[in-house]
Amino acid sequence: MDLRDLYQEVILDHNKRPRNFGTLEGASHSTGHNPMCGDRVSVYVRMDQGKVGDVRFSGTGCAISKASASLMTDAVTGKSSDEVRTMFLMFQDVVTGRAEPDEEQLGKLAVLAGVSEYPSRVKCAMLAWHALQAAIEGAAEIVSTE
Ligand code: ZN
Repeated sequence: MDLRDLYQEVILDHNKRPRNFGTLEGASHSTGHNPMCGDRVSVYVRMDQGKVGDVRFSGTGCAISKASASLMTDAVTGKSSDEVRTMFLMFQDVVTGRAEPDEEQLGKLAVLAGVSEYPSRVKCAMLAWHALQAAIEGAAEIVSTE
């Protein structure tokens, strides 16, 4: 199976069965909106000792935005906020075509490298990541006041 077939299959699979779909009550959250496409994704995150303990997403949007959010929640669980930031930057480079996907570092996220062929979809793929960053920054603020 080549990467293009895998790309289609992973996107279909995550749309049919989105991982970690839903909300987390009392968790830090942020909503991202991509007016170009009409995607709206909310990401909820609960940090546990500096790491992503629990993460969910909800919202509506195109297949890419949903699959990307679903893949992201799987990928970042158990990662520190620094590791999430590194992954965010690496993923951004891959979907914009600035870097080749490193499957060892990105795991299944590497499949979304196919997005780089469609520049108008980059925002769709990045939406959940921006919301996650904002939610983690919000979570960090809450933690620092304790
Ligand atoms: Zn979209």
